[in-house]
Formats: sequence, structure tokens, C-alpha cells
Amino acid sequence: MEVSPHHPFITTKLDDFVHWAQASSIWPLTMGLACCAIEMMSIVSPNYDVARFGAEKFSSSPRQSDLMIVSGRVANKMVPVIKQLFDQMPDPKWVISMGACASSGGVFDNYAVVPCDTFLPVDVYVPGCPPSPDALIYAIMQIRNQIAAGSKSQVLAGNA
Ligand code: SF4
Repeated sequence: MEVSPHHPFITTKLDDFVHWAQASSIWPLTMGLACCAIEMMSIVSPNYDVARFGAEKFSSSPRQSDLMIVSGRVANKMVPVIKQLFDQMPDPKWVISMGACASSGGVFDNYAVVPCDTFLPVDVYVPGCPPSPDALIYAIMQIRNQIAAGSKSQVLAGNA
């Protein structure tokens, strides 16, 4: 994006503009699976204020969401439900695996718990049990960077 010093207008490419708009208005899907969801909910509180980054509008409809935060352990029986929700989200869409349980089974690493990257294209992993709200916000920042760059890649977000 460029601002001309001689003319009061901004020039940009359509792709850059679309990426800027997407990165500035991420709408997460309202989907809490376990205790990690409590930390997820707190990112909209005044203490963390994720609205600073335009990501406070949690939608109850997958059709109006572009970010799925898998916040907690995924039981076997929930896999088809989560897959259906993901399929109902419009493209482009992104996935954060939040917490040890979602990424690897964590302390519930048994036959009934499934790591979410075995059935979802995870973009960013947030380690920890529970991960801090700051770490989740950092993961959202990584998603914003990916959108701005027009790319998708796997990132490990530090536990702040
Ligand atoms: S990672 Fe910890 S806080 Fe998150 S769902 Fe698992 S046990 Fe709960």
C-alpha cells in the first residue's frame, strides 16, 4: 500500500486490500470443547481486549466464521461434528489448535481423544495446559500475518 506525497489518495493492489480486510476482521467460530475454552473466552474481556485486532466477533454460525479455535480435547464422537462445522465455514478459513489436548491428547492421551490435526488443516498450534489468553492472541496475530502474506503455514505460537 502506498500513499502519494503529492496526491491525497492511496494506491494498492486488490489482493493486498482483500488480505488487509480479512486480516483486520477475523470472525472466530463460537466453539468451546473443554477447559481451554475458558481461556479462549477471556480474550474478549477488557484485560486482553482482542478487539484491538478486530477478532472479537465470535459467531455462532460456521457460515459467518473464518477461524476455528479448537479449544480443548476432541472426543472421538465429536470428530464428525467438528468436521461438519469446518466444512460449513466459507473459504478462506483458518484453524488454531489450542492447548496440549487439542494438539496431542495432552493429559487425556487415550483411545477416546483425537489430536485435531489428524482431521483438520491446523495453521497454528498453541502449547500449554491451559494456554494463556496472551498465547492465543499471539496465535491470532500469526494468523493475521499469514493472511496478510497470502499464505498458509504451520506455526507454533509461544505460551506467553
Ligand atoms: S490442555 Fe489443559 S486446559 Fe486445555 S483442555 Fe486440556 S486439560 Fe483442559
